[in-house]
Amino acid sequence: MPIKEGKRYCINHPSARMNRTGTFKALVNVEGNAADGTINPQSGLVVMPFVCEECGYLEMYVADKTHQDKK
Ligand SMILES: [Zn+2]
Repeated sequence: MPIKEGKRYCINHPSARMNRTGTFKALVNVEGNAADGTINPQSGLVVMPFVCEECGYLEMYVADKTHQDKK
């Protein structure tokens, strides 16, 4: 999905923001826990999914590349 000024937009709706899902997800079995910061990045690919509420389009970024979303 395109990122404009740190905000993510739907590829189908250029004016619609993509909303993060509540938690990080993993494409494979990740060891550790995101809540307490014990994720082992070597155990799998940690991703941040985003969803467009208008069309349901789902896209994701690798979590460790999206520093602007870290709390
Ligand atoms: Zn959309």
